[in-house]
Amino acid sequence: MSISLGMPALAGRPADVGPRPNGDPSLVDRWGRIATDLRISLTDRCNLRCTYCMPAAGLPFQPPSQLLQADEIARLATIAVRQLGVRQVRFTGGEPLLRKDLVEIIAAVSALEPRPEISLTTNAIGLASRASALRAAGLDRINVSLDTVHAATFLEISRRPFLERVLAGIDAAADAGLTPVKINAVLLRGVNDRQAAELLDWSLTRGHQLRFIEQMPLDADHSWDRATMVTAAEVREQLQEHYELVPDDEPRDGAPAELFRVFSRDGSEFLGLVGIIASVTESFCADCRRTRLTSEGAVRSCLFSHAEVDLLGPLRAGASDDELAALWRDAMWAKPVGHGLDAGGFVQPERTMSAIGG
Ligand code: SF4
Repeated sequence: MSISLGMPALAGRPADVGPRPNGDPSLVDRWGRIATDLRISLTDRCNLRCTYCMPAAGLPFQPPSQLLQADEIARLATIAVRQLGVRQVRFTGGEPLLRKDLVEIIAAVSALEPRPEISLTTNAIGLASRASALRAAGLDRINVSLDTVHAATFLEISRRPFLERVLAGIDAAADAGLTPVKINAVLLRGVNDRQAAELLDWSLTRGHQLRFIEQMPLDADHSWDRATMVTAAEVREQLQEHYELVPDDEPRDGAPAELFRVFSRDGSEFLGLVGIIASVTESFCADCRRTRLTSEGAVRSCLFSHAEVDLLGPLRAGASDDELAALWRDAMWAKPVGHGLDAGGFVQPERTMSAIGG
């Protein structure tokens, strides 16, 4: 069974669509893309210190009063769903499980009509005791960050001895019906880059859906180096030593991950799916459908934006839903065409991944 590893179909550059269409309620941008997938960062705090994200000492975190409160999140999510055409809401961080009011927040969003699909990106520490309550509150899907199943490597990458807690959280998520549990893994050269096949075997055996994410230049230390980054092509090559991979024929619909059907080495047995998120080397910006809110209530039109539009200030100053919706639309209209990593002169944004949440 052969595999075509050509570039994904989304590599093209969208065209500028000219002036903003009057009366269009959606989160359209000037390249004609429409955002329907809202990522909300609930906090910039985290209980891990992953080397590719945060310094060992952590970062100066926002005081809770500066963060979106549960009722403010519910209001902005309501505006997004009812007025702006958002159909998916993903909660991220930092680490969203650090929010004690997470169940309340999810319950408020799951009560919305039309009901958006609700997901969570987490490191799963503490999930073992909360998975069923989150599920009951309306959580539909979960993505867990896990770069290795070896305790020593986990400690080396995250600077915390918490692998067992993460694994217990993943089991609890599966038991609670948050399936398939999606596993997000970042490979670091010289650390866990030779563990890709083993991690895939671990995931397939448990029915989880693993996705490898190329490391992005959003780290607080600004130490990202494209030359040492493990590329999607390398990951595919390594996996092909152990499996047969076939591009999945399901439409991608703007999803970051390119999915592959995984077969045994001789191609006789279907084992599951694996995803590869080639943010850097095989950009999928042309079909991006994401809009983001930071934990301080600012709209980020793109992960790599250098501009943000504050909604929390106007909200607390008494702005109406229509005024907040208009600010949000304008913020998205100005969305950059892409991350600009290939455009020469790339400047890493000030805000780090730990304060965006993916
Ligand atoms: S880099 Fe920006 S435009 Fe590209 S996929 Fe990510 S959020 Fe979308």
